[in-house]
Amino acid sequence: MPKRVLMIFVDGVGIGSDNPESNPFVRFADPFLPFSETHWQKEVPYSGVIVKTAADMGVAGLPQSATGQTALFCGVNSAQAVGRHIAGFPTPTLRKLIDAHSIFLQLKQRGKTGTFANALSEDYFRLRGERISATTRSLLAGGFPPRMLDALWQKRAVSHDLTNEFLAGMGLEVPRFTVEQSAEILADILDEVHFCLFEFILSDRAGHRQDFNAAGQVIHKLSILLQRLLPRLTLSEVTVILTSDHGNMEDLSVKTHTRNPVPALLWGAGRDFLADRIQKIEDITPAILSWLDTD
Ligand SMILES: [Zn+2]
Repeated sequence: MPKRVLMIFVDGVGIGSDNPESNPFVRFADPFLPFSETHWQKEVPYSGVIVKTAADMGVAGLPQSATGQTALFCGVNSAQAVGRHIAGFPTPTLRKLIDAHSIFLQLKQRGKTGTFANALSEDYFRLRGERISATTRSLLAGGFPPRMLDALWQKRAVSHDLTNEFLAGMGLEVPRFTVEQSAEILADILDEVHFCLFEFILSDRAGHRQDFNAAGQVIHKLSILLQRLLPRLTLSEVTVILTSDHGNMEDLSVKTHTRNPVPALLWGAGRDFLADRIQKIEDITPAILSWLDTD
């Protein structure tokens, strides 16, 4: 089997302080997600390691999603390219960077395959037009098709919340999944491609709302995902990286993002190869591509 990489992109999660009053990763301590100052160096179940990863790109101000995700999925210092951190969805300049450097495009150019595991609705494309997320834009830049809602019924896609409740809440006809079912589906999708991206965004939302309850649910969901997913994968062939675009949920004393480093949590065949090459978020795409190049 060829090498495969699964990237679990968790929006807005950094490595925070040891204070349980502000850091939910301390208050709801979980062995898979030890994202605090003195615990991040612990080995994680299934021989995972954490690399502390700078997300500020050497640019003043609070890191934001549009620039952070462009850096993550393209391997370019997007904040320096545009002179600041940009929030929300990619602007025209960032879209150009994505269209020229997306990890999916770079995979395509190498004759490799990539996919985005998240299901998207027709309305998402119809209503948003050019203002789509960096993840979706990156996928399309490589010419790979998005997974639509019908793929949920075929158990060939997952939703960002891992249960499909968000889509159902919008009035859409979707099946409900348990987190365990979503984990199984993600593992099946990874079997078919060299690179699979999954995006989880409730973490950033919990951070902005300074909501400890929601943060606890996020940690619980991610922990169940990893507990079910990792033993299901052949880690001698597969590499898993869980990472983020900027800090946020690890410090609920503020409702903004933070300048904290983010975790690059690594498991499997490429663990040490990637760990040696990652210091900042813009290192992640080149590290993944170099790993796949050695196949
Ligand atoms: Zn945010």
